[in-house]
Amino acid sequence: MDYIVLDMEWNQPWPGSPSAKKILPVQIRGEIIQIGAVRVTEDKEVADEFQIMVRPKYYRHLNRRVSKLTGIKEARLREEGVPFPEAIAQFRQWCGQDVVFLTWGFDDIGILRENLRLYGLDPDFTERWYNAQMIFNAQTDGSNAQKALKTAMEMFGIEATRPAHDALGDAYHTALICARLDLERGAREYEQALKNHENGFHGAELPGCIARKVFYDYANKRAALTAMAGEENRCPVCGGRMLGSRWFAQPGHRYMDLATCPEHGKFLIRVRLSQQPDGLVRVSRLTYEATSQAAEAYARRAEKADPEDTDRPRRRRRRKSGGAKTEASAQ
Ligand SMILES: [Zn+2]
Repeated sequence: MDYIVLDMEWNQPWPGSPSAKKILPVQIRGEIIQIGAVRVTEDKEVADEFQIMVRPKYYRHLNRRVSKLTGIKEARLREEGVPFPEAIAQFRQWCGQDVVFLTWGFDDIGILRENLRLYGLDPDFTERWYNAQMIFNAQTDGSNAQKALKTAMEMFGIEATRPAHDALGDAYHTALICARLDLERGAREYEQALKNHENGFHGAELPGCIARKVFYDYANKRAALTAMAGEENRCPVCGGRMLGSRWFAQPGHRYMDLATCPEHGKFLIRVRLSQQPDGLVRVSRLTYEATSQAAEAYARRAEKADPEDTDRPRRRRRRKSGGAKTEASAQ
C-alpha cells in the first residue's frame, strides 16, 4: 500500500459574473485546474511525483485571485491543460490500486469528489483518505487549529524548496511532513482525532474559558445561530437568559458574540458550526469571561467591523424604542 499525498488548485467564478450564475448539474466549490501528488511508501520514503494541468470546462475564465495566488495563467491552461476525465485517468493510473490519500485540510477530497460527480465519474477510489492536519496536530501540539502548511513546516524545521500554492509544490512539502509522522498510528487514532476536532474541544480554548457545551440536531445554520442567540443563550452563573449583541463570522464556520446577563455582566460566546453525518447542524460552544484574551479579540474585531462580514440571526422581537425594553424581555 502507498500513501498518495494529494494537493489541487481550483478555479472559482468571479462573484457576480455570468459563470457564477451558471447552474451546474452538480454543485462544485471550485473547478480543478491542477492536480499535484507525491507518493509516500509504507516505509515512509518520499517517492515519485505526479502533476497535471486541467483545462476548465465550466469556469473557463480564470479568477484573477486564483491566478495571482497560484501563478497559473489562462494561456498555460489552454496550452498544457487536458480535459478533467483524461487528467483523472492519468492520475489513477499513476496512483495504482492500493492507495490511501493524504491531504492537508478537509477541502481537497470533497472538491475532487464534486468534480468527479460533475463529470459522471465514480468517486469510489477516493474512499480511503486522511486529513494529514489532524494527524499532525494529534502527534505534535495536540491543538485543534487548522494549521497552515507553512506553520507545520516551520514546526518540523522543514525548509521550503518548492513553490507554495502550486499543487505539486504543496503536495511535496506535505509529503515531507507526512514522512515524519507515524501514519499507521495516525490512521488508527484518526476517528478519535476527528471527533475531538468536530467537537472543537481539543485544548483549543484560550485562557478565560469558563464553560463548554455541544448542541445537536439543528436544521440549518440559521436555526443554530437563532437558538444560540435565543433560548440557549444562558448566563453561565445564574442560567438566566442573556441578551446577545452581534455575531461576527470568523474563519472555519465560527461565530462570536458578546452576551450580557443583566445580573452578571458580559460574556463572550464562541460557537463553531459543523455538519453532522445526517446533514443536521451541530454547535460547539465556548463561553469566556469578558475580561479574557478571547473577549479582547472580539472587541478588536467589533472595532473594524463592516456590515458584510457580520452574520446576525433574525431577532425574534423587534426593538421598539431604546434598549431597556428589549433587555427586560430577554431575561
Ligand atoms: Zn447571570
